[in-house]
Amino acid sequence: LNRRLAEFGTTIFAEMSALALSTGSINLGQGFPDTDGPEEIREAAVRALRDGRGNQYPPGPGVPELRAAVAAHQERRYGLLYDADTEVLVTAGATEAIAASLLALLEPGDEVVALEPYYDSYAACIAMAGARRVPVTLRPHVHDEGASFRLDLDELRDAVTDRTRLLLVNTPHNPTGTVLTRDELAAIAELAVERDLLVVTDEVYEHLVFDDAEHVPLATFPGMRERTVTIGSAGKSFSFTGWKVGWVTGAPALVSAVRSAKQFLTYVSSGPFQYAVAEALALPETYFAAFRADMLAKRDVLAAGLAEAGFRVFRPAGTYFVTTDIRPLGESDGFAFCRALPERAGVVAIPNAVFYDDREAGAPFVRFAFCKQVEVLQEAVKRLRAAF
Ligand code: PMP
Ligand code: GLN
Repeated sequence: LNRRLAEFGTTIFAEMSALALSTGSINLGQGFPDTDGPEEIREAAVRALRDGRGNQYPPGPGVPELRAAVAAHQERRYGLLYDADTEVLVTAGATEAIAASLLALLEPGDEVVALEPYYDSYAACIAMAGARRVPVTLRPHVHDEGASFRLDLDELRDAVTDRTRLLLVNTPHNPTGTVLTRDELAAIAELAVERDLLVVTDEVYEHLVFDDAEHVPLATFPGMRERTVTIGSAGKSFSFTGWKVGWVTGAPALVSAVRSAKQFLTYVSSGPFQYAVAEALALPETYFAAFRADMLAKRDVLAAGLAEAGFRVFRPAGTYFVTTDIRPLGESDGFAFCRALPERAGVVAIPNAVFYDDREAGAPFVRFAFCKQVEVLQEAVKRLRAAF
């Protein structure tokens, strides 16, 4: 393994899912739903396979039906107008969208300012591009509505230097569940414009926002459309994580750059699934509302159960993850805690420290996924309450 990648090793998701299997534990680690997305969309994939649509290399940018559906979705939901031919690119999941964007847009030595904790592939892709990550840490705050991780806008401004080329944003945020507010996003946008920065924004959890939180795409702010690459995922929005269909939207020059990188990573992405995802994006609002309501109910079961078991819970405003603080349990090392948890309680979780450069800052936090059937969450809670 070369020096750029040496520090990354095996992803925590693979390690923890293997541990769940070998110990027969309930896997609340890796974020994937334990029920598949809509039956009619599965049927659409079968139809595409059977009709021979996409069984050979689809077009490099993605099949026209899916590009049109992505553009229509961005317009319908956010009033963002993108040209399906020049401003939309289909990728092999959001993971490839992240990799191709960073590989295409960064020069070696560039600095990338990213929110910390950060999704693990960000750090590895910044490293593969030969660039340098500069984390801005979301800090835990306790307030009237509970506890949450917040961005310090002064810290963000201070992190930008003459070498900064790109801001890497993620909202709704994995692993904290924070949804950046309209005011915070406006401030990020102003900074990007003022310092003439590119922005890559990972919005894969755009449909999973709860209570009065609102998802506002960064690309909707003044001056942002031309400098922003926005990333979405069918895995996250339609519960088909195994299909690996994602997309980017952005101005032609940016999307064309990302496409240049993508063509040498995977060339194209899975054909038949693209046709099915095109149909998924056109589902009526009732689908998205039901998806959100279902995940909200699951959040409430797990968040309440974790609190009863003695964790401090950061109730997420978005995503399907809940971050907890283990210090009320008399623990302080999330790594040790997560490695022992299968034995102790028959449950698997993720230590947030893997998402930090500042491992110390992340040490006491542990993430649980709630995209699981309610009975599974209830059983996990029962085990945790018995163990602590
Ligand atoms: N970004 C974030 C923030 C994620 O949580 C995930 C998946 N868990 C991805 C990207 C990757 O998405 P995909 O499965 O579509 O590659
Ligand atoms: N994004 C998912 C998570 O955060 C996992 C994806 C993966 O396994 N790389 O859990």
